Amino acid sequence: MTDTLAQPAGTASGSASDTRRVDALVVGAGLSGLYMLHRFRELGLTTVVLEAGGDIGGTWYWNRYPGARCDVESMEYSYSFSPELEQEWDWTEKYPTQPEILRYVHHVADRFGLHDGVRLGTRVASAHFGDEDGRWTVTTEAGERWDTEQLVMATGCLSTSKLPEIPGVGTFAGRTFHTAHWPHDPVDFTGRRVAVIGTGSSGIQAIPLIAEQAGDLTVFQRTANFSMPANNAPLSDEAQTERKKTYREHREAARTSGFGVPVPEATQSALEVDPDERHAKYESVWGRNLVGLLASYTDSIVDADANETAAEFVREKIREVVHDPETAETLSPRDHPFGTKRPCLDSGYYATFNRPNVHLVDLKKTPLTEVTEHGVRTSEREYEVDDLVFATGFDAMTGSLLAMDVRGRGGRPLADKWADGPVSHLGLQVAGFPNLYMITGPGSPSVLSNMMVSIEQHVDFVADAVAFAHARGDTVVESTEDAERGWTDHVREVGEYTLYPRADSWYMGANVPGKPRVFMAYIGGVGNYRAHCDQLAADGYPGFAFSST
Ligand code: NAP
Repeated sequence: MTDTLAQPAGTASGSASDTRRVDALVVGAGLSGLYMLHRFRELGLTTVVLEAGGDIGGTWYWNRYPGARCDVESMEYSYSFSPELEQEWDWTEKYPTQPEILRYVHHVADRFGLHDGVRLGTRVASAHFGDEDGRWTVTTEAGERWDTEQLVMATGCLSTSKLPEIPGVGTFAGRTFHTAHWPHDPVDFTGRRVAVIGTGSSGIQAIPLIAEQAGDLTVFQRTANFSMPANNAPLSDEAQTERKKTYREHREAARTSGFGVPVPEATQSALEVDPDERHAKYESVWGRNLVGLLASYTDSIVDADANETAAEFVREKIREVVHDPETAETLSPRDHPFGTKRPCLDSGYYATFNRPNVHLVDLKKTPLTEVTEHGVRTSEREYEVDDLVFATGFDAMTGSLLAMDVRGRGGRPLADKWADGPVSHLGLQVAGFPNLYMITGPGSPSVLSNMMVSIEQHVDFVADAVAFAHARGDTVVESTEDAERGWTDHVREVGEYTLYPRADSWYMGANVPGKPRVFMAYIGGVGNYRAHCDQLAADGYPGFAFSST
């Protein structure tokens, strides 16, 4: 089959004469969308990727703020589907920077000939399922119409950015930035008065670098976050060559692990070991990777007392670095268990607060009240600045999906189906929305994992399910209501067994006013989840209905 990008496939009906017909449409040309394109093309499906951005790369295209870097090691945050690709590409640092990941994405797209399947600058407005013909009609904001059998939402978990819900955000007269929409040209903060609002992963990465340039930096913190040193370093040729010799084993270990990052499996409760032994254990994993501290003991994420031992360990580290005890205390998280908001990896974050040009404002004590023409006002005073940086995060997991007008069987809107929070079968499909797949959707391990491991697993599952259907002579794959209910209940039960629901996190939708408070990711473990999906495939996909419309 040929690609129809350049060839509108006309239909008989007049007004729809410019509708383009494809076998598969993918929304989003990030790491998941590009791999989906590759897999669908291998199946011989005419496939087009619609991408809102001006280039491929997804999250790594948009998030270009100073210090933007992946928190998973480069040799693990990379595609594993091609042994040749993993052998030929060389990473330069332990943790890859945003520009390096973008170069890698381009290398992959060049190598596998993917560029011509992507339409850039094309934002999807709606996707409606046709009950009559079992196909989707997708409309873009520019008014283009696409007719497709398969529709894959590779829209990312953290793509719809958000601003603080305070008055005056548009009134600031100086320069304004959001970390998720950073300019492509370098931003110079030299000598300027800068405010950063937000201390999540983005803020924590950007703040040390902005502080080095700015004349004066004020950090507005609502919730203190747990952050650990990245200990980033150049990746030597020797270390890389060694790893490449055993890449297959590492990949397998990642796929069967809890978080998609191979770490030794915990065997003991944090509370059954001697405090000195526990401390030594925490020291041994400190600064090694994102998940080691949380994965040290079996009960770190399910028992509040066990968790507190890890939380206090981090606070101790903060006190060791930050000179001023009051600032150290303000930076010490006390309102949520360790790991229940996404922990961060940083390069010099806490030490930044020892600089004379850096000030910390505790918004728990003096909340933000408005953005003014000259800066930011809290309940206490106004802070006049030249530049305002919003590191205020995303409407996560569901935001990008619900930003489109998606309607399934009978014209039912996805927004209606998800009014009380997302329901799904495996985080892959929603009952009543045939042939619509979500890559790393809510209800899958997604954001609780190394995204590359989860992306590849989902894309492979989708490609295999579509191939299975076609081999049977069917065109439609649809999760059953029963399977969806069972999975959604399971996701909730496993989540409720943990400490995650105790935090006001974006995992819970708590950062978006009015969003249903639901723990949206699956914490059953990447390896267990994969085994479950593999078993379903081996058993002929129970929980999925196959038909021709
Ligand atoms: P985030 O974690 O949601 O952090 C947003 C920050 O803005 C939080 O400190 C939040 O405070 C604050 N905030 C939001 N609304 C506010 C308001 N109205 N007033 C005051 N403060 C407000 O967003 P992010 O830092 O962009 O990171 C999101 C996720 O993206 C991360 O958790 C991670 O999964 C991913 N990410 C990964 C990397 C990496 O791998 N290195 C880097 C960046 C991002 P509250 O906590 O009180 O809501």
